[in-house]
Amino acid sequence: MYNLAVFGNPIEHSLSPAIHAQFAQQTATQVNYTKILAPIGNFSQEAQRFVASGGDGFNITVPFKIDAFELATELTLNAKMAGAVNTIKVQEDRLIGENTDGLGLVNDLIQNLGLSLKNKKILILGAGGATQGIVLPLLQQQPSRVMIANRTASKAEKLADDFSKYGSTCGFGLDKIKSDPIDIIINATSASLDGKMPDIANGCAHGAICYDLMYGQQTPFMTWAKENNASIIADGLGMLVEQAASSFEFWTEKKPDTQAVIKNLRR
Ligand code: NDP
Repeated sequence: MYNLAVFGNPIEHSLSPAIHAQFAQQTATQVNYTKILAPIGNFSQEAQRFVASGGDGFNITVPFKIDAFELATELTLNAKMAGAVNTIKVQEDRLIGENTDGLGLVNDLIQNLGLSLKNKKILILGAGGATQGIVLPLLQQQPSRVMIANRTASKAEKLADDFSKYGSTCGFGLDKIKSDPIDIIINATSASLDGKMPDIANGCAHGAICYDLMYGQQTPFMTWAKENNASIIADGLGMLVEQAASSFEFWTEKKPDTQAVIKNLRR
């Protein structure tokens, strides 16, 4: 039996227990996966209590991914570069921190949407925590370039610089985006949460694959993509399921069937 959990605040609406229950059933694995609401400022104590009670691993969501990064006793390269941890595996007294968000996005793009990222020009909107977690896995697919555009240009420039040893990157302000078509545009801003669309040139969406990390509703970015003739438009539900699958595999070494779970969640 694997004793697993997800920590967050709020946590009530997390889909993770439902996703992991389906993975457990598919792979005939005994799993007890619970939601834990950690008080702000108290994540580390709550997580250590869970470990002491026999926890084998846990996910971490908003706002504790940086606390989890600090709690981990060792980090994968993904986690190190992301500066945040969304998955911890307990091995005796070791807490191994991983970040599966970027792997989840890449697996959704490649396996579920059938895309290749090799030699593609990728534009990421936003330079927050989500962007920091997705840049390395995207670069590992050998795109021709990963461009990061952010409202606060300096943050995009810094991230582009931090990742430049892993591939071709550049960073600039949203106002510097040109009207030329781009292969893949990823909205990693939190603007969708406020029902807003980042203010950018329309022409870049023409024929592009437009992907919003947010899920659960048609976002202003997805509407903008449609109005500006994007070729493929997707939300982040597939990424959510894929990051969960990568966590499940990290703990159990079993690979679940994500497409069946995505289909169930879209019903
Ligand atoms: P952060 O708060 O770390 O960063 C927010 C980013 O959005 C910043 O770059 C900020 O720019 C930018 N931004 C906010 N509002 C606007 C606006 N109106 N116009 C332009 N830019 C704006 O958030 P995260 O990176 O953690 O999360 C981003 C999104 O990714 C969220 O919607 C989240 O739900 C989603 N997500 C989805 C996952 C999935 O599994 N599908 C996993 C992880 C995240 P500035 O720096 O100038 O303030």
